Amino acid sequence: MQNLDNCPRCGDLFVKSLRPVCNKCHKEVEEKFQKVYNFIRKRENRQATMSEVVDATGVSQEDITHFIKEGRIHVRQFPNLEYPCESCGKSIREGRICSSCKDNIESGLQSQAREKERSERDKERERARYQTYHSLNDRMK
Ligand SMILES: [Zn+2]
Ligand SMILES: [Zn+2]
Repeated sequence: MQNLDNCPRCGDLFVKSLRPVCNKCHKEVEEKFQKVYNFIRKRENRQATMSEVVDATGVSQEDITHFIKEGRIHVRQFPNLEYPCESCGKSIREGRICSSCKDNIESGLQSQAREKERSERDKERERARYQTYHSLNDRMK
């Protein structure tokens, strides 16, 4: 039985072994990528902003953002290519959220993380103690 699934882009049934989307969508995405890439790689378009790229290529900001997040478009080469933070909509150039949203989330998570770290460390210590105990036992046999 092949691994059939609905394509997340168009909803068609497809075999999910090769790609996360169906062939038709894959082709569409590739064509869009080529369009975007052909546009921004031109020297005179290096400074293009996101909306200029959208206007020039007809590819949606969503798709372009996707290419950036996939690492297919390197924003470092395109200083004005920004996309909105997933949390507050502020323009960002890497990751999914802006640094202030990240800070907010992190300060909330930090106490949780610290707690987790402590229990991990305890577990680690426990394991080490257990192993020492056993290797001592083995040696005495
Ligand atoms: Zn599809
Ligand atoms: Zn944000």
